[in-house]
Amino acid sequence: MSIFCIGRNYVAHAHELGNEVPTSAIIFMKPDAALLAAGENFSIPSFTNDLHFEGELVLRVCKKGKNLSEAHPNGIPVIDYCDAITVGIDFTARDVQNELKEKGLPWEKAKAFDNAAILGEWHPLTSEILSAPIHYTLSKNGSTVQTGDSSLMIFPLDKILADITEYFTIHPGDLIYTGTPAGVGPTAKGDVFKGFFEGQSVFSLKVNP
Ligand code: ZN
Repeated sequence: MSIFCIGRNYVAHAHELGNEVPTSAIIFMKPDAALLAAGENFSIPSFTNDLHFEGELVLRVCKKGKNLSEAHPNGIPVIDYCDAITVGIDFTARDVQNELKEKGLPWEKAKAFDNAAILGEWHPLTSEILSAPIHYTLSKNGSTVQTGDSSLMIFPLDKILADITEYFTIHPGDLIYTGTPAGVGPTAKGDVFKGFFEGQSVFSLKVNP
């Protein structure tokens, strides 16, 4: 199983970290060991002093695909290649990432470590869901910290599939984290995060004290 992630997919988030708005999708990956098992608590790793939460919409791939923009010149039917959607967290060791970025090094140590990918309960992906802006939120200790709206994505879901499959074959069971909206921030021991997809709770995550 591959976990694909998109970086800087919302203008306001690119700006909050002082990054340029990209002209093509930024893609990075996490190994399957990065996925926190359902129901487990999360522990802040010892190598970071600035662990950021990034709440994101996540797609589940249901069909093998490669070079989808060539195969579907009139647009990519996301619904043919993904069968479920939810909200997750792309945990990021921001201090580690900033150091790696400064040196022009890969981001894996900052984003692909064990348990860095949190996944909510799946909702079946329907054409009805895809026909309107998708809304999601992340709360921390009872306060909403991030509000997401898929219509604000720089690279919409079909473009993400096109960009990923230009380089990588997608397979059933692969996950796609689609980028975080503005509002990322630090994580502390004892924090409780909750993810909501269209107002419905999809996960509750406790950070170990
Ligand atoms: Zn992210």
